[in-house]
Amino acid sequence: MTEDELINSYPHKHLLGIEGLLPTSINFLLKSSNNYVDYLNNKKNGKLDILKNKICINLFFENSTRTRTSFELAGKKLGADMLNISVGTSSIKKGETLIDTAMTLNAMQPDILVVRHHDAGAVKLLSEKVNCGVINAGDGPHEHPTQALLDALTILKRKKKISGLKIAICGDIMHSRVARSNIHLLNTLGAEVRVIAPATLIPKGIESLGVNIFYDMKSGLKDVDIIIMLRLQLERMSGSFVPSIREYFRFYGLDREKLNFANPDALILHPGPMNRGVEIDSELADDIDRSAIFEQVQMGVAVRMACLKAIIDHKLKAND
Ligand code: ASP
Repeated sequence: MTEDELINSYPHKHLLGIEGLLPTSINFLLKSSNNYVDYLNNKKNGKLDILKNKICINLFFENSTRTRTSFELAGKKLGADMLNISVGTSSIKKGETLIDTAMTLNAMQPDILVVRHHDAGAVKLLSEKVNCGVINAGDGPHEHPTQALLDALTILKRKKKISGLKIAICGDIMHSRVARSNIHLLNTLGAEVRVIAPATLIPKGIESLGVNIFYDMKSGLKDVDIIIMLRLQLERMSGSFVPSIREYFRFYGLDREKLNFANPDALILHPGPMNRGVEIDSELADDIDRSAIFEQVQMGVAVRMACLKAIIDHKLKAND
């Protein structure tokens, strides 16, 4: 591949994670997403036909509001036919395996499968069994690549750069795919990433991903430009990781007092769903000068448009 092609395309069949992606691929997806932000701002409810006659199936084994809806909206805005498989009413409930479900859907010849699954690695496994492109919409605590891309786009919009920024990811690092994908992406683009959490919520060996660890908000937030708050992922916890919610909020919940430890213009991000009064103070979450939480949702649609388009373009090139 020429350097020009590397800069101007996404050279992979699937989007399974951020780990291992070159900066050129990440930057290409961000640039393309940014173009879609402009398009969405100008055209509001306008529709393109770039993915006309393409079939995209959302296959979600875990609950989702933002991600599933925004993939659906993104595909529709590009003119694709979008199908949603609801696990609750599908044959998966009758005991069909992940692979059998994948093979069944594959036989319908979709162009893209967007998959969320509760097990780390399940989406990659599925991608090896089907002919179409696969996008990981979150696999257990492993990766959530489109979330990291939309977080990066939100940061770029507000701060105009990523390289050199000090970024803190706070909360349940242990069970968070958002933390992992963000660490890979932000490090690849030259940010200084740190994690802040109680020791029980820091996974072993996380420093090998190139982050500094802090166990308290005061020292962890010092000089920080971006604060990414995470939800306690109770659904992935077996046993108790924090003494009580009240105590957790007192020490790790972001409120005005703790925000003052960071830079005066530090921006707050949260992937949602938020648990107000647990990891973030409710009034702070709604402060549009300090929090970009709803902007992230808007960026999410543009990022998913760019990812769907990139996967289809790769497929068209491969068939040339
Ligand atoms: N929505 C994000 C995810 O799917 C974060 C969360 O659920 O807390 O990982």
